[in-house]
Amino acid sequence: MEKKVLITGVAGFLGSQLAKDLLEAGCVVVGVDNLSSGKITNLKGLSEDRFIFKEMDACSRKLLTDADLHNLAEIYHLASAASPKYYQASPFETINVNTVGTKNMLELAKRRQAKIVYTSTSEAYGDPEMHPQPESYRGNVNTWGPRACYDEAKRLGEVLCYLYYTQYQTKVKVARIFNTYSAGLANDDGRVISNFVTQALKDEDITVYGDGTQTRSFCYVTDTLNGLKLLMEKDEANGEIINIGNPIEYPIIELANLVKTLANSESNITFHPLPEDDPKVRRPVIDKAKELLGWEPVITLDSGLAETIEEYRKKLL
Ligand code: UDP
Repeated sequence: MEKKVLITGVAGFLGSQLAKDLLEAGCVVVGVDNLSSGKITNLKGLSEDRFIFKEMDACSRKLLTDADLHNLAEIYHLASAASPKYYQASPFETINVNTVGTKNMLELAKRRQAKIVYTSTSEAYGDPEMHPQPESYRGNVNTWGPRACYDEAKRLGEVLCYLYYTQYQTKVKVARIFNTYSAGLANDDGRVISNFVTQALKDEDITVYGDGTQTRSFCYVTDTLNGLKLLMEKDEANGEIINIGNPIEYPIIELANLVKTLANSESNITFHPLPEDDPKVRRPVIDKAKELLGWEPVITLDSGLAETIEEYRKKLL
């Protein structure tokens, strides 16, 4: 019998690509999304007989008794806005899906004896005072600011995973995902790579926030998804938190110049106020992923960006 997999957040940028991969691998995929930040157009081409889409919230208790979710083998709980622009626009929804929604998915995993991957975030480290960040670093998060709804909700989501693992031996694994990108990000997503590439291709100003010395480490979508699939597969990862990210770090100003060059753009680079609580540095330690999963990213920023720029160029034409 084909393996049945549930993906929450299936209409998002990661979820839709993951669904495509799993369908190609022969799985039955049940996709859940309330379409608050995911886009139905991302699901085009997935409407084959092994894909079932449910326009529902991951918090819905109905999922616990849904007949399509019997014989469930795996759950990828990806549902949540992830761009600061979107999670700050719907802070209560962000909190709900990562806490109530995570508890709901853990309960489903427990009842169906399914494996579950919860996608947490590098934001769990807040504005880090340890650099780079290993999983053992406990973070520096401000509860009283615009990023708190996301950071603290993801952290509470991790706590719920810990409790289901220790109390019920649920086969749960937590990924702390670091900035992932591809042309799958909508032009209006608000995150830095989608902004810069869209601006560069339109010869509009490239908007650097702050002085651009803050850093991020960018992971191409195929690398991130390979990491998540290995995390699901490996029993050694049960009850573990694992960083999934690219350990090569770039200042944002360098990213702006790189995008401008690769896109052959006439854009000017302009400077704007730095958002409150914007982390100054971010880079994962990935020793644990290497050891437990045999995983590390293989796509360089240059080649991932070149691919992203070409695909965006086609979308914008
Ligand atoms: N950023 C920027 N210009 C933009 C969008 C973002 O300079 O148009 C900066 C932002 O201030 C942050 C970094 O790029 O320092 C990454 O931002 P993003 O929203 O992609 O994700 P974050 O890692 O902050 O969640």
